[in-house]
Amino acid sequence: MKKAVYSLIILLGIAGCSTIPKTQGHGTKKPKRIILLIGDGMGLTQISSLYVESDNTTNFNRFTHVGLMNPKSASHKITDSAAGATAFACGKKTYNGAIGMGPDTTSIPNLVEILSARKYETGVVATSAITHATPASFYSHTIHRKLEYDIAGQLLKSDIDFFAGGGSKYFAHRESDMKLYNWTIDSSKSVQPIPVKSRQGAERLGYLLGENGLPTAQTDRGNFLHNASEAAITFLDKSKYFLMIEGSQIDWGGHANDYSYVNSEMKDFDKVLGYVLDYAEKDGETLIIVTADHETGGLALNPKAETDLQGKTNRNYDSIEPSFTTGGHTAALIPVFAYGPGAAHFTGMYENTDIFKKILELAR
Ligand SMILES: [Zn+2]
Repeated sequence: MKKAVYSLIILLGIAGCSTIPKTQGHGTKKPKRIILLIGDGMGLTQISSLYVESDNTTNFNRFTHVGLMNPKSASHKITDSAAGATAFACGKKTYNGAIGMGPDTTSIPNLVEILSARKYETGVVATSAITHATPASFYSHTIHRKLEYDIAGQLLKSDIDFFAGGGSKYFAHRESDMKLYNWTIDSSKSVQPIPVKSRQGAERLGYLLGENGLPTAQTDRGNFLHNASEAAITFLDKSKYFLMIEGSQIDWGGHANDYSYVNSEMKDFDKVLGYVLDYAEKDGETLIIVTADHETGGLALNPKAETDLQGKTNRNYDSIEPSFTTGGHTAALIPVFAYGPGAAHFTGMYENTDIFKKILELAR
């Protein structure tokens, strides 16, 4: 009996210090690469809509750890995208409209700046203009999100190594800065497949494939988000890196109260999740975090109301009738999904600013 207990202790000891990954390194290991995916306006019902419309086959199923986050801003009970993204990028709650600045309009160091100093490469990808509030909060500091010409100038001077999105009109007549800061920028103004190539030398690569926001997934955007994410990851792959990928238009579908718009953007975003999860599974050193800045539209997935022959209205629980309750944002708590080394840190209930703190704690 004693011998059996002793053997068990030895076995446990071996398991404890063996090379067998603890649930594939999801516990204590630190990631070498961090990919933060933001579905702008993506609340729990937007994610639920994907389950309803895709027969439960979404890539959200593959995440090992889930938490809940409070998206409130410093100035309002309901945040906008600028304050929401500044909370993630800078770790401070601020006023709606602020980009990388606190409530007193002083600039706050962002993840891109802090991690670049730790020798991380960095990138941003969005389906909006790359100067739009969410991506802008990761590389610029300005008193208001609408100052997109100023934000574009700051992008060229920032620590970002790769970007892809729309917004070419904000970069007109900036060729000398592009040259000065070693940028190779393709401003084709139309969505096209981005060449997937590994980093060569110290060049910095940018794609501006639209005057402002990109087309919708339902119209002419094609496979842009997946393609741009693959191009970014291939470009940054050799080193430690931090990459932010935004599904920007889930929010725009919510503002338009257009369910098929929201759902097609969710499917497009989910495709990218499949790609990054496959990559992280193979790599073993990549942490994937998926969240949203806030929910948009107050989307509800209600049972369809049907009137029978007697004129009585019944709820059909086997048929969904989506409806929006506002054209704006809501205060709903937001889910956070994580996979890879450090994923366990993202369970529980916390504030949007804790995303920043957790990433910094985990970054090498
Ligand atoms: Zn937003």
